[in-house]
Amino acid sequence: MQTHFMKDRGVDATSQTANTRPADMLTIPDLIRKKRDGGQLSDDEIKAFIQAVKEKTIQDSQIGAMLMAIWLNGMVSVEIKALTREMMSSGEVMEWPDEWKNFMVDKHSTGGVGDKVSLVLAPALAACGCKVPMISGRGLAHTGGTLDKLESIPGFKVEQSREQILEILDSVGCCIVGQTETLVPADRVLYALRDITGTVDSLPLITSSIISKKGAESLSALVLDVKFGRAAVCKDLESATELAQMLVEAGNGLGIRTAAVLSGMNGSIGRCVGNSVEVIESLETLKGNGPDDLMELVTTQGGLLLVMTGLVSDLSEGRKQISEAVVGGAALSKFQAMMEAQGVNSDTAQRLCTTNTDYYSVLRKAKHQLELKAPADGIVLEIDGLVLAQVLHRLGAGRSKAGEPVNHSVGAVLLVSIGQRVTKGVSWLRLHYEDPALTPDQRNHLESALTVGTDQKIQTQQKCTLVEKILPKKYAY
Ligand code: URA
Repeated sequence: MQTHFMKDRGVDATSQTANTRPADMLTIPDLIRKKRDGGQLSDDEIKAFIQAVKEKTIQDSQIGAMLMAIWLNGMVSVEIKALTREMMSSGEVMEWPDEWKNFMVDKHSTGGVGDKVSLVLAPALAACGCKVPMISGRGLAHTGGTLDKLESIPGFKVEQSREQILEILDSVGCCIVGQTETLVPADRVLYALRDITGTVDSLPLITSSIISKKGAESLSALVLDVKFGRAAVCKDLESATELAQMLVEAGNGLGIRTAAVLSGMNGSIGRCVGNSVEVIESLETLKGNGPDDLMELVTTQGGLLLVMTGLVSDLSEGRKQISEAVVGGAALSKFQAMMEAQGVNSDTAQRLCTTNTDYYSVLRKAKHQLELKAPADGIVLEIDGLVLAQVLHRLGAGRSKAGEPVNHSVGAVLLVSIGQRVTKGVSWLRLHYEDPALTPDQRNHLESALTVGTDQKIQTQQKCTLVEKILPKKYAY
């Protein structure tokens, strides 16, 4: 094992940065060794690494080794800041008309079960005067993706050019689109290699990946929904707080006013999990019939963005304005206009936005429905969101590899809520599934998601609010 390293100023066959490297810059193998041995990379060294990634003058094995060195040794805040900035600058950075500059906002969630916040929040913010160029992702593993949900609406196009995004923001105020080819190309390379080198779960790498993409949107304000709990990436509040602090610092480091909401993720958000059924629940929310937990997340995140853009002076006023936009129908009109601007035929968009509509005259309904029954009398103490999501994923609602298709019609609707008294045999969940049918193992697993118990236990397990903490604290009032 090599125990020391020397600066290599000569031509090194394994070094791939030769033509752009200043004379005294370390080679790529030197940089890997430096990080591997616990050193701190300078701004120039991080710039050289990302430039090599962008220009493809570095081998995948070298990138993988650097990612592992970062995974093992972490990064200090100045390194994360430099990595985020260099990744952002690896591609196109969007530009907006001057008059929009204070009102460009977006959100990011670290991923949850039944997380349909974006579908309600984007149009609500547009209705409150913000511009929302929401760049969202697809579902991977058990968590759902906003783009997959929207694609269950016939005609909805998530791929939009820069010019189209500008046009939609001008006419509607919000769009929800996929990442363009030119936005943060370094992240595409790093993310794909993280996936196959066991380096996805590194706080500096997660932070730079998320914030570089938000930086490239040239936002004025950003809110992060950092989830913790059984069905989240962060299993406890402590690790979620660490990630949230890193994200907030990196966002502010790029000049974006950034706040984080830490919210519990043991069950599901709302009552619907799965692509089409979540679109239906989002539309019902935009018609004023939303579940309390979803509304809590929408009004808190939206309220914070209104505070950060200066449109309101405190969070309670922000929450009120967002709530009025949702309950009063202004957000629904924005959602309808956004659907049309993104390719949905106007008759379809109108049908989805009409009160008491038959959603399945537009959205595909799964071939089979099955109701599961409560095994005993008692109180619903828990519905395990992770178990629910895992079974739905196996039934086709999610994907295991990037690029795989998903089945939009597979999903589940909860028919009971936490704290509700139920009697044995009452239906607690309606499953929507396609062929092949649910296996006995899958059915047992799904049934294990429900815990029915006694009155005493409810005292400790029932939870009526999801938002646990807001960072920085100055925005929480
Ligand atoms: N989302 C991203 O874009 N990157 C990560 O690393 C994790 C979540």
